[in-house]
Amino acid sequence: MKKRSHKKEVKDRIKSHIKKEDRVKVITGRDRGKIGKVLKVIRKDNRVLIENINIVKHHTKPNAKNKQGGIIESEAPLQLSNVMLMCNKCVSPVRIRMQQLEDGKQVRICRKCSEIIDA
Ligand SMILES: [Zn+2]
Repeated sequence: MKKRSHKKEVKDRIKSHIKKEDRVKVITGRDRGKIGKVLKVIRKDNRVLIENINIVKHHTKPNAKNKQGGIIESEAPLQLSNVMLMCNKCVSPVRIRMQQLEDGKQVRICRKCSEIIDA
């Protein structure tokens, strides 16, 4: 692993409409094809944490919480560009567009079936 020399380096943020609690499909990588719920969106890194996706094992030393130490499994964040939002109606990953409702609320619309994704 290379050490990052420029700590303040600003990455371009990927334009993404994915939010916490969304159902997304992994489109590339080890977990390709899997569907999971978004636990957290890490905007500054353009990454997203998804339930039960990209599980990594951490070896831990014994501590107060875990006297035995050992291996802990947890999710590692994925690149935002590696996941796609699922449309519940199409039951497939879809592209979305934004639309403003009469009350001014911005919602996400499936480009395929025009169903509002934000319920
Ligand atoms: Zn749809």
